[in-house]
Amino acid sequence: MKYETVIGLEVHTQLTTKTKIFCGCSTEFGQTPNSQTCPVCLGLPGALPVLNQRVVELAIKTGLATNCRIAPRSIFARKNYFYPDLPKGYQISQFELPVCEHGWLDIDLENGESKRIGITRAHLEEDAGKLVHGDTPETSGNSLVDLNRACTPLLEIVSEPDMRSADEAIAYLKKLHQIVVYLGVCDGNLEEGSFRCDANVSIRPYGQKEFGTRAELKNINSFRFIKQAIEYEVERQIDLIEGGGKVVQETRLYDSNTGMTRSMRSKEEAHDYRYFPDPDLVPLVISQDWIEEVRTTLPELPDAKRNRFVEELGLSAYDAEVLAADRGLADYFDACVALAKDAKTCANWIMGDVLRKLKETGTSIADGPVSPQLLTGLLARIADKTISGKIAKTVFEKMWQSGQTADQVIEAEGLKQVTDTGAIESLVDKAIAAHPDQVAEYLAGKDKLIGFFVGKVMQASQGKANPGIVNQLLKKKLTGN
Ligand code: ADP
Ligand code: MG
Ligand code: ZN
Repeated sequence: MKYETVIGLEVHTQLTTKTKIFCGCSTEFGQTPNSQTCPVCLGLPGALPVLNQRVVELAIKTGLATNCRIAPRSIFARKNYFYPDLPKGYQISQFELPVCEHGWLDIDLENGESKRIGITRAHLEEDAGKLVHGDTPETSGNSLVDLNRACTPLLEIVSEPDMRSADEAIAYLKKLHQIVVYLGVCDGNLEEGSFRCDANVSIRPYGQKEFGTRAELKNINSFRFIKQAIEYEVERQIDLIEGGGKVVQETRLYDSNTGMTRSMRSKEEAHDYRYFPDPDLVPLVISQDWIEEVRTTLPELPDAKRNRFVEELGLSAYDAEVLAADRGLADYFDACVALAKDAKTCANWIMGDVLRKLKETGTSIADGPVSPQLLTGLLARIADKTISGKIAKTVFEKMWQSGQTADQVIEAEGLKQVTDTGAIESLVDKAIAAHPDQVAEYLAGKDKLIGFFVGKVMQASQGKANPGIVNQLLKKKLTGN
């Protein structure tokens, strides 16, 4: 029997606020354990949470960018469970009335079509602390708790079960990731856990309307692993059903060492969270004015940028995709176009030499030594024929190393293109005189040899002769007219 895969994703994005969601403690990563705590995030009796306004702003931003409706009124609820990393014995989350609902994202499929994935809801919550399992002689065998992360703001974005393959799930995740990073609401670091994904996976025979029973996969911290985990899980469920068994609803952990998932807890063992409204927090009321104010701060999003690059600037779909994928790169490109006008040339240089150097040196575009001013300065020297496109590569390399302008490099290195016909003429004469056999072949009709002569002259000029003039003079001299 053929089975269809059904996937719904829950993504926890850690919001980039300086302080926690309900207290003033710092959210900085990697600090001394428990150095960023206070009575509120330690859950001490009597301490009261106060909502961080910036958290709400970032949630609105994300909601708008993912086409959600922003709830004018939402409620914080207590999600009760007992675990040592949760000092209060409950997590403050949102349940019945989340801050965002009914959104969607369009993903691009392999076949070139696009598909709309529904976003059920996005709700605010606090993160738990972290258990550290002792690895020193004094601590081995014990577990320690670090509450620096407790009370860090999270926006959990829950999708509809709309994805039908691991590839679609990855496309959705990458799109969502790109958007939150673009917005600056999340740093997007999967390894540090700033962008965490749980994948709900089920299968059903093709044509069946009802969904199958799902398993929820947790603990996956890279796009590659998410794909692997889903693919493994689909195979496991198919084998199970084909073998006469039944999928049970459960939470499974992915193990990146084995590429397999294993049961963590079944539905029977699942917690009854006993959600109820948190009496310590008033309902969150968001005015339409506030929503509109936040809307004005939204940057142009990747899809809109990509379309503009194609439609207004005439780039190929591929170039537009690459340049729009990273906000820094897109801003750099836009700055170049504003200075140089010729968008395609700018795109070619950025897609080629600039990206190559960034990769080679592990630099981000914002920190690269060749600013849009410097790059377009170089392009201007190609356009006005001071240097050839080929010499420009050398100039670019030197600009990257020294941070100098194109003019400074051209001057210092004596790279100015030779357009003086007299100087080129003598090189042309020499090349012709040195290769009588090739001259004869050329005259006998082997036109392609013109390239050979151009090469010789360019070489003799150390690449500085104007190739157009070289060509012209060669043709004239070889044929004697
Ligand atoms: P829970 O709170 O128990 O995780 P939800 O109803 O909030 O349950 O669903 C969580 C996620 O599971 C959502 O992303 C949803 O799209 C997805 N989901 C629900 N049913 C299925 C299913 N049968 N197969 C795959 N995914 C599913
Ligand atoms: Mg869940
Ligand atoms: Zn605190």
